[in-house]
Amino acid sequence: MFDLFAKFRKTKIWDFDGGIHPPEMKDQTRLIPVRRPALPDYFLIPLQQHLGPEGELLVKQGDHVLKGQALTRGQNRTLPVHASTSGEITDIGYYPSTHPSAIPERCVCLKPDKLDQWCELSPLTDYHTYPAEQLIAHIHQAGIAGLGGAVFPTASKIQGAQGKVKTLIINGAECEPYITADDRLMQEYADELITGCEILRHILQPTEILIGIEDNKPEAIQSVKSALQRNGSSDIFVRVIPTKYPSGGAKQLTKILTGREVPHGGRSSDIGVLMQNVGTVFAIKRAVINGEPLIERIVTITGDAITNKGNVWARLGTPVSALLQQSGYQIQPTPMVIMGGPLMGFALPDLNVPVTKMTNCIIAPSATEIEPPEPEQACIRCSRCADACPCDLLPQQLYWFSRGKEHEKARSYNLFDCIECGSCAYVCPSNIPLVQYYRQEKAEIRELDEQAELARIAKIRFEAKQARLEKEKQARLQRHKQAETKPDAEDNNVIQAALERIRKQKSAENSDSTTQPVIKSINGDVLPDNSAVIAARQARKAQRQKEQAAQLAQQTKPETSEIAEQDPRKAALAAAIARAKAKKAQQKQTSQPETLIAPAETTPVTSAPINDERKAAVAAAIERAKARKQQHHQQQQASAKENHVELPAAKQTVEQSNIKPADKVPDESADARKAAVAEAIARVKARKAQQKALQLAASNEVKIGEE
Ligand code: SF4
Ligand code: SF4
Repeated sequence: MFDLFAKFRKTKIWDFDGGIHPPEMKDQTRLIPVRRPALPDYFLIPLQQHLGPEGELLVKQGDHVLKGQALTRGQNRTLPVHASTSGEITDIGYYPSTHPSAIPERCVCLKPDKLDQWCELSPLTDYHTYPAEQLIAHIHQAGIAGLGGAVFPTASKIQGAQGKVKTLIINGAECEPYITADDRLMQEYADELITGCEILRHILQPTEILIGIEDNKPEAIQSVKSALQRNGSSDIFVRVIPTKYPSGGAKQLTKILTGREVPHGGRSSDIGVLMQNVGTVFAIKRAVINGEPLIERIVTITGDAITNKGNVWARLGTPVSALLQQSGYQIQPTPMVIMGGPLMGFALPDLNVPVTKMTNCIIAPSATEIEPPEPEQACIRCSRCADACPCDLLPQQLYWFSRGKEHEKARSYNLFDCIECGSCAYVCPSNIPLVQYYRQEKAEIRELDEQAELARIAKIRFEAKQARLEKEKQARLQRHKQAETKPDAEDNNVIQAALERIRKQKSAENSDSTTQPVIKSINGDVLPDNSAVIAARQARKAQRQKEQAAQLAQQTKPETSEIAEQDPRKAALAAAIARAKAKKAQQKQTSQPETLIAPAETTPVTSAPINDERKAAVAAAIERAKARKQQHHQQQQASAKENHVELPAAKQTVEQSNIKPADKVPDESADARKAAVAEAIARVKARKAQQKALQLAASNEVKIGEE
C-alpha cells in the first residue's frame, strides 16, 4: 500500500499559472530523421558562444587544425571553442554576430580540408572510476553550455549544485512552436541520453531523476521509456506533461514536476533542483564516453519557404545561408529568417551569421505564413497580459514603468523575473511589443547598476586612500613629537662631533696665538680673541713704512744738494719735489692703519688719488719754476731794453721759430744762452725726478700690497 502511494506521488504533476496555447507547427519536421548536411565552404566560429567572457586564443592565421582541436583556452566560466572540422585558419577577425543587432564579434574563419580528421580524443569511458571533480573538469574542457538557449556553462552549473541536488530534471518539454530538435534527439538518441543521465547521477548523486516531456511528443516518450528499460535504469522516471507554453521554462517545469516554486531572485538549486536540457545531457555523454568536444548540435530548419525541412546536425560556425541553401530555401518577396522560435526568437539581419551553441531552430516562413506585425496601439488595460504571464508578473505595469524610465519601480515589480517568453505580447489586443520594452529596460538597469558598482568601488578606493594618508600623517606627527621630547642619542653624537670639528678647525687657524684670550660667539661657542695679534701686525707695518719714508728722504737729499750747487732754481725745483714726496709718504703713513686692516681691498682704491696729488705737486713746482724763470727773463729784457731796443723782437723770433739762435742772432748775450741751457737742464732733471718719484711710489704700493 505504501509503495503504491509513493508511486502515485511520483507520477503526480502540477500546473503553473498563465501560459498560452499557440499553434504548435511541429508536424512539419518532428517525424523527419536528423540528417547531416555537407560541410560548408568555410566556418565562422565565434570565440564567445556562452554566457561569459571569451577565452584566450590558441591559434593564429595560417595554422592547420584538426577536428575537435581547442581554438581558445577555457578557464573558470570561460568555455573553450573547438574546430568544427579539420582545415586551415584563414582569418581571425570580426564578423556579424548571431544577434538581433548583428554587432560584429571576433570569429575564427576556418577553411575545411574536406578530410574531417579528428584530433586525439581523451574519453573517460569508465566514468564510474573517476571522481566528480575530474568529470566536471572534463565537461568544462569539452566546451559544453546549456543547449536549451541559456548557454550557461554546464560545468559551473553542476559544480555550484554539488551536494545540494535532490531532484535532477531533464528538460525535454520543448514547448515553443516549430522546434523539434529535442524531439528528434529523444527519438533517435535515447540510449545516449540515458547514459548522459547516468553520468550526471554519478556526479551529483541526486535522490531522483525526472525526464519531463510534453504530451505532443509521443514518439519521443516511447523511445525514452524503451531506452530506460534497455539500460535497466528503473530509478529514472519519464514525466509526461500537458502541452502548454512555456512549460519548458526552468521555473515552470520545476513547478510542474515537483510542485515547488523557485523564490524571486533565486535559483532552482535553492530548492534542491537542478535542470539540464536533453541536448546538454547528450553532449555530456559524447564528451565523457566518446571524448568529443561540443562542435555540433541538432538544428530544426523549417518554414514554408524551405522545401527540404527537417533537423540537421549543424556544425558550430556553419553560416546560416549554407544551411538554407542545402535545405532548398526559396527567397520570398519579403524575406525574413528567424533564429529560434516564433515567440522567443529574433529576425536575422544577415544570413551569413554562424550557427552557435544557442541555435536550435531556423524558421524561413512564407509571405502568408507569418503576418507582418500590426501597428502598435495604446494599452486599454484589459489585463490579458497579466492572465497569460507564467511568472505571476504585471506586464502592463512593467510596460508603463519601462516606457517612463522608472527603473526602481520596474525593479520592484520584479522585472528581472520575466523570462521573456512573449506570452503577454502574444495575447495583447493592442499589438504592443511588450518583450522589446522589457529587454530595453533590463539593459538600461544593468548599465546603471554597472556604473553604480564602478562608483562604489571608486568610493571605497578613495576612502581607503584618505585613511592611509591620515594614518601616515598621524605617524609622522608622532615621530616629531617623540623627537622633541626625547632627542635621539645618535643625533646628539652627530651634533657633538660637528661642534668638535669646528673647534679643531678654528684652533688650527689660530695656532700662532696659543695664549690668546678667548671670546664667545653668537651661538655661545668659545672662540680665540685675535685683536692683540692684529694690533701687533699693524704696528709692524707702520714701523716699516716709517723706515721707508726716511730712506726715501735720504735718497732725494743728495740729489737736491747737487742741484743746488749747480743752479738755485733747480735746487728749488728738486726741493719742491722732495717735499711733495715726503708729504705723500707722510700721508701714506697716516693712512696705513686703514690699509692694514684690509690691504688687498683698499690699495687699488687709494692709489689713484695718491698719483693725482703727486702729479699736481710736481706740476705746481714746475709752474713755480717757470714763473720765477719768466720773472727773471722779464728783468733781463727790461735791462736789455735800456741798452738795445731790438732785443725782445729777436728773442721772441728765436723762441717762436725754433731756429738756432746762433744762426739768427749771432750777437745775443751770453746770459740769455746760459739761461736757455739752464732751463733745458732743469726740465730734464725735473722729468727725471718725477720719474724716480713715480717709481718709488709704485714700489711702495707694491710692498704695501704684498703686506
Ligand atoms: S494586454 Fe496589452 S492592452 Fe491589455 S493590459 Fe496588457 S498591455 Fe495593455
Ligand atoms: S514576457 Fe515576461 S511579462 Fe510577459 S508573459 Fe512572459 S514572463 Fe510574463
